[in-house]
Amino acid sequence: MEQMRKDFIANVSHELRTPLTVMRGYLEMLPNDEAPSMGIWPQAHKMMSEQSQRMEALVEQLMTLTRLENAQPTQYAKPTDVPALLEKIQSDAIALSNNQHEITLNIDKSLWMLTDKEQLRSAFSNLIFNAVKYTPAGGKIEIEWLSDDKGGAKFCCKDNGQGIAPEHISRLTERFYRIDEARTRDSGGSGLGLSIVNRILKIHDSKLTITSRRQVGSQFGFVINKKFICPPESQ
Ligand code: ADP
Repeated sequence: MEQMRKDFIANVSHELRTPLTVMRGYLEMLPNDEAPSMGIWPQAHKMMSEQSQRMEALVEQLMTLTRLENAQPTQYAKPTDVPALLEKIQSDAIALSNNQHEITLNIDKSLWMLTDKEQLRSAFSNLIFNAVKYTPAGGKIEIEWLSDDKGGAKFCCKDNGQGIAPEHISRLTERFYRIDEARTRDSGGSGLGLSIVNRILKIHDSKLTITSRRQVGSQFGFVINKKFICPPESQ
């Protein structure tokens, strides 16, 4: 049953991609102010563009999950400059936030990792972009990548945003689990982000730790075993 479920998701997401690309392509070619005989056209064009973009993101995320389900830990592992990766994601997060949040980095520059860079990018950016999405303007986001006391490393992303009520916390990494459907739909959320993070961490023998309080903020973190940590490569 589990294999059938995985195959089904893999097939559906693959099959949906082509028709979506065609629809989006035509929508992009048709300017939204060029159908004067149809009063509803500008509104319809806007909705169709937004929703097809959402569907495309959803299909991409489903395909990512499928890929991760079959991934082996060391398949694409290479020495990865984690500090540089985090600096890049920090600047993407500042752009996403439109400079409305204070986003700080506290990192140990000597902590590189043997990993698939794209997987790690996906895990970090899901957590950091969530902190931006679920923290009101003016909030603070603190990102840490430091050594732990066992020769490994620990990552933490802390915000002082809306927080999460305790009854939701253990379910957040389930696929499609969202807390406030209306609000996350506004921010373009699918409820797949944290299940992708969880899957990536599992490949790295780790798991997500979440602590949060409503109206105070949230903290998402994980520990990486020392077997995945490597020294910086001389460039
Ligand atoms: P989504 O695509 O909806 O953001 P995720 O799997 O990334 O899906 O997150 C699941 C839910 O967890 C979100 O809908 C949101 O309600 C909650 N969440 C995630 N990160 C945070 C955060 N930093 N602060 C508050 N709520 C969060």
